[in-house]
Amino acid sequence: MTLHAPYDPDNIFAKILRGDMPHVSVFEDEVALAFMDVFPQAEGHTLIIPKKVEARNFLDMPTEKLGAYMERVQQVARAVEKALNPDGVVVTQFNGAPAGQTVFHLHFHILPRFEGTRLGAHAAGQMATPEQLEPIASRIRAAV
Ligand code: 5GP
Repeated sequence: MTLHAPYDPDNIFAKILRGDMPHVSVFEDEVALAFMDVFPQAEGHTLIIPKKVEARNFLDMPTEKLGAYMERVQQVARAVEKALNPDGVVVTQFNGAPAGQTVFHLHFHILPRFEGTRLGAHAAGQMATPEQLEPIASRIRAAV
C-alpha cells in the first residue's frame, strides 16, 4: 500500500532536500525547491517539492501548507513557459504507485509540450547529466 504509509525520510527527494543528493536547481525559498528531472520526459521537465513537510503525496499534504506551495508551483510553471516558450504545459502529480508515483515525497511535474514532440517515458531511459540539464535550468532560473 503506497497511497497511505509512513513517510520514508530516506526517499530521494528528502535526500535532495538534505543536500545528500546532487540536483540541478531552478528555484528555492523557504516553502519549496524546484529542480530538473533527471529522466526528462520533455526538454525542461521540472519538479517542485514542498520543504519542511513529511507528505508522501497530495492527499497527505497539510491543507494549511498547500496554498503557499501551490503558489510556487504556479510561479515555476510560469517561469518554464517564459523561458522555453512551449505550445502547452502539463502540470501534474501522481498519488500512490498504482497511479504512477515512484518517489514518495509530494511533487508536481511541470512538463513543457511542443507541437509534434511526443513525451518520453516516465521515470525511465537514460539519466541526464548535470551538464546536459544546466543550460535549460539556467534559462528557467533566470525567468523565475
Ligand atoms: P513520480 O513517478 O513519483 O511522479 O516522479 C518522480 C520523478 O522523479 C520521475 O519523473 C523521475 O524521473 C524523477 N527522479 C527519479 N530519481 C531522481 C533523482 O535522483 N533526481 C531527480 N532530479 N529526479 C529524479
